[in-house]
Amino acid sequence: MQNFKAYYFDGKSSAPKSVTLELYDNFVRIQEFNLSYLFKDIEVKAKLKNTPQSINFSDGSYCELDAGDSFFLPNNNNDKFILKMESKMRYALVSFIVLCAFITFCLTYGTTMLADTLAPKIPQNIVENISKQTLEFLDRHYMSESNLSIEKQDFIKKRFDDILNKNSNFKLHFRSSEILGANAFALPNGDIILLDDLIELDKDPEFRGVIGVLAHESGHVVHMHGIKLLIKSSVSSALVGYFWGDFSGFLTTFTTVIIEAKYSRNYENEADSYAVKTIKENNISTQYMANIFDEIVKKSHEKLGNATMEHSILSSHPAIEERIENFRENAK
Ligand SMILES: [Zn+2]
Repeated sequence: MQNFKAYYFDGKSSAPKSVTLELYDNFVRIQEFNLSYLFKDIEVKAKLKNTPQSINFSDGSYCELDAGDSFFLPNNNNDKFILKMESKMRYALVSFIVLCAFITFCLTYGTTMLADTLAPKIPQNIVENISKQTLEFLDRHYMSESNLSIEKQDFIKKRFDDILNKNSNFKLHFRSSEILGANAFALPNGDIILLDDLIELDKDPEFRGVIGVLAHESGHVVHMHGIKLLIKSSVSSALVGYFWGDFSGFLTTFTTVIIEAKYSRNYENEADSYAVKTIKENNISTQYMANIFDEIVKKSHEKLGNATMEHSILSSHPAIEERIENFRENAK
């Protein structure tokens, strides 16, 4: 506690009274009148050189100090500063949380909604162009001509047309690829690429497992998953680029999307449902699909010792065991 000698004016009479002003942690007290005022009820006038400093109270009374004394309310300015900082921090924190929620929404539901809306509106010539360039890129860097006999190619092609091309215009391409292994994938324009290693895994002489996989790939085309994924990845890269200032991710190529980026679980389920429906409509048991997926899993495990599963059909087709079980169930 600090003491100050002061003159007290009660605001009614002009006669000053000599008092002792006591300064406590959050109030002042005028000893002689046993009057206390909280800091919030006090206005301290700035001290001007050689003039007595005055302290006004909320009831209209005031004190004047000796000309040589200076009076400050302790921590008062600090309190204001902390209060201001705290409210700013709170504001910043709330903004940060809102921003995070917004980005999360954009990267999940937002992009999905946008992709679903935009995909059907992408002009066909753009879809053709993207697909054509992707196939050319794959041919240049990953794939070579198929080594499958022309008879086998014709046989599979005929079954493909009979079963999957009744009302559609898919185009089947035979290729081989050491890097991509036992795989098949669809381009958005309906070009479907089938690799030799996958055909080799089908123990059925009528290649009904392969047809099942091709039906699944057609499902991706029908539901426009490739284009949707492209829209989603572009939006994500653009958003990430906007907030982190790095746009290099924006250059993610469509090739990566098609052969490496994971199709979402939803897209896989959609493509599987389409395959199961189509296969069953053509009186083929989905057991053949279960069989060929079993072989793919086996093959991947064999290779795991010296190679990664990076390019395996499994990396783009999550929860494989669950899916095989689904094909088995549907075969009953
Ligand atoms: Zn798939």
